[in-house]
Amino acid sequence: MSKLLTKPIEFVKGVGPTKGKFLIQDLNIRTVEDLLYTFPFRYVDKTNYTTINQIGRDGEKVLLKAKITSVKELKGKRQHRLSAIAKDDTGYIELLWFKGVSWVKKMIIPDQEYIIYGRLSLFKGKKTLAHPELEMIKNESSKLKTSLDAVYSSTEQLTKLGLDNKTRRRLISTIFDELKESDIQETLPPYLTERLKLKSRYEALIKIHQPKNRQEADESIARLKFEEIFFFQLAMLFSKQRRKLKYKGPSFQTIGETFNNFYKNNLPFELTNAQKRVVKEIRTDVGSGYQMNRLLQGDVGSGKTMVALLTMLIAIDNGFQAVMLAPTQILAQQHFDSIKEYLDGTGVRVGYLSGAVKGKERKIVLDYLRKGELNIIVGTHALLEDYVVFNKLGIAVIDEQHRFGVMQRAKLWNKNPDFIPHILVMTATPIPRTLAMTAYGDLDVSVIDELPPGRKEVKTLHMRESKRYQLIQFMREEIAKGRQIYIVFPLIEESETLDLQNLQRGYEEIRDIFKPPEFQISVVHGRLKPADKDLEMKRFVEKKTQIMVATTVIEVGVNVPNASVMIIENTERFGLSQLHQLRGRVGRGAEQSYCILMSGNKLSAEGKERIHTMVSTTDGFKIAEADLRLRGPGDLMGTQQSGVMRFQLLSLVEDRNILTTARNVAKRILDNDPNLDHPDNKLLRKSLKKYFEKHKDWGRIS
Ligand code: ADP
Ligand code: MG
Repeated sequence: MSKLLTKPIEFVKGVGPTKGKFLIQDLNIRTVEDLLYTFPFRYVDKTNYTTINQIGRDGEKVLLKAKITSVKELKGKRQHRLSAIAKDDTGYIELLWFKGVSWVKKMIIPDQEYIIYGRLSLFKGKKTLAHPELEMIKNESSKLKTSLDAVYSSTEQLTKLGLDNKTRRRLISTIFDELKESDIQETLPPYLTERLKLKSRYEALIKIHQPKNRQEADESIARLKFEEIFFFQLAMLFSKQRRKLKYKGPSFQTIGETFNNFYKNNLPFELTNAQKRVVKEIRTDVGSGYQMNRLLQGDVGSGKTMVALLTMLIAIDNGFQAVMLAPTQILAQQHFDSIKEYLDGTGVRVGYLSGAVKGKERKIVLDYLRKGELNIIVGTHALLEDYVVFNKLGIAVIDEQHRFGVMQRAKLWNKNPDFIPHILVMTATPIPRTLAMTAYGDLDVSVIDELPPGRKEVKTLHMRESKRYQLIQFMREEIAKGRQIYIVFPLIEESETLDLQNLQRGYEEIRDIFKPPEFQISVVHGRLKPADKDLEMKRFVEKKTQIMVATTVIEVGVNVPNASVMIIENTERFGLSQLHQLRGRVGRGAEQSYCILMSGNKLSAEGKERIHTMVSTTDGFKIAEADLRLRGPGDLMGTQQSGVMRFQLLSLVEDRNILTTARNVAKRILDNDPNLDHPDNKLLRKSLKKYFEKHKDWGRIS
């Protein structure tokens, strides 16, 4: 590798040990290469300022050239802030800081002209910018040849040390003076760059920092984005293909009596087209001789259980056993009950195991399982323990993947000495396609995108606190009709104690209105012992209580068809996906169901949008898309997976096209040349190898 690129950052002229230390510490920039590959996050177009009289839309981003005329520190009881007035020829605007006040105060030189960038807020018609970015305009004329200035994210510490945007641009510029084209190795073969009209890597790297105009910047960004996602996809697909070749799966060649008889005689309803399609996809996969790793996505109530059951019947037809795992006892028990009912009279033997199955009963189950006298076993993660031995395990169905870590999946792999069982992971959390392609790029994905016919859509309403009286009336009416009601309170770790108090208070208020013996109430939250939780849940399932006051523990999978009202308290504190999951708890019976979103009278813009989304659609995929837009992929996937998806440039929300192209191109290349042996692909092979070296940990997600 080029000497220049590997040069430690502190040895670069103009950096030195102190700034070097903070570049490493704050921005993880250790070498010249790191510096060049830390891209600007936006540009300032110096030809394109607005004047203060032209701005006025709340929330708009504004770029001004103005003089700061006065600075005032305001020390209130509650808040310490700094207020400055900036003026141009057309008017004035207030700049505000609530953090780093003393530092900003020192930085600002009155009567100096600044480039000011920020988001406008209008408060009673007054124009203000909170925490704007400032850059002083020096009198000397700028030496840069472009009208676009790169802006980098930095830290207070580095700016204090004098490494502001301007210095950073100058630093990069001196490195470019030395940089030769041969220092930057191309990673993509010419046939790709030509066909996709991508800039060379060298050119893109220079132009992303020093674009002449917007087009040059965009083209450079596009090239580097493509590279970012392309190698990710190539690596993902490459490992997937490797794994397929390495691990043989049990081959389910025949569709036999068990499946056919059930399908003909016991199927309680006609499958939806989506269910039929997915069963076919799975059938092809499990018959291929390769191990299946498939994610089955389907909204709540879309009928995943039946698809899982049919898949398990295919395993049985081929002489294999099947296991179905659920994250909680309640869910496992529900699956067991419904599967047993479906299979009534078919002769298929189903067992159940969880931590609660003890003594003689447990011994019998384990014994039968080992001897192959059970065809299907349903249960909790107790089934993963070493003492659980199968006779011939062929497939594992895992419901609700979020609770099942990779480690647990790995345990399943050891349950059959001859084959790695097929794995079907089911989730009711719709994942937008772009995200699925990335987060689960190495899994095959099936989607049930259709609900069984005749479902009544859950009516969703937004109610403010002031309407609580009406809500109580409504609850009375529904209970009088024999329905059951959920009331869900938010609970997050950071404010757990407060949240629990809140729930307790809510419970007491409800109890004061809905009094025993006429009314019974269940309470379920995470602090309860599992046994107590199960007991409370059970009382509700058995209709012994009419109201269930709970935290989100009821989010996953629970099925109480008679519960037809879901009331969510402090709705603004829930994420969209969570709200969608919660709403999915109702609408399971024949009755009209309701979801009532309670909120305070004041809502943030985002809170409003979330509630609006919930009220306007019940389509899980649309909601997931909105969630992705509002929160970004990290939050959506949880921390575990987001690590591998931290792209510097690519946005999973906005760059669908690039993402799809990259995925298709990568797939086509590997389909034609699985080992990248073709001379044209030599460069790709080399780049991919480097990519794997650099991302050693990313294989963990498979
Ligand atoms: P989920 O995908 O949420 O796990 P379930 O498998 O629990 O959904 O199915 C929800 C309900 O829909 C169950 O009562 C099930 O019997 C019923 N169901 C599933 N498929 C169909 C279908 N094709 N037609 C009618 N009802 C169906
Ligand atoms: Mg389910």
